[in-house]
Amino acid sequence: MEQRRFGTAARCGMTDITGDVEQYLHARAADGIQDGFVCIYSPHTTCAVTINEGFDPDVQRDISTFLSKLVPENSGFRHSEGNSDAHVKVSLIGASCLVPVIGGRTALGQWQRVFLCEFDGPRTRTLYFSFIRAE
Ligand code: ZN
Repeated sequence: MEQRRFGTAARCGMTDITGDVEQYLHARAADGIQDGFVCIYSPHTTCAVTINEGFDPDVQRDISTFLSKLVPENSGFRHSEGNSDAHVKVSLIGASCLVPVIGGRTALGQWQRVFLCEFDGPRTRTLYFSFIRAE
């Protein structure tokens, strides 16, 4: 399991980490990695991971804007830390994702990219990367 750190620049936003997934695979090419999945896991309760379109940055903005409308920051939450909206958003998006790997390379769709989703930044985040072999 490899840990990688990422700095986020705003309270909410999506950071394209596809290059890190490709670097992770490239660094393991000597291990004979062929087919399987890279699991990317966020050990944080206010930071998620997802796969979505990376071609048009408006898609990322639309997702962030929609989530902020769906789960407003001041919704009368009880959690004293004041970031329950971020906790709810992580449960909606998910704390991990699997990226398919074929022949040692990512097999994402043409427009797909992997994103770290920050909901309570800016912060330094750690993500866990691991490879899972598949038949
Ligand atoms: Zn909290």
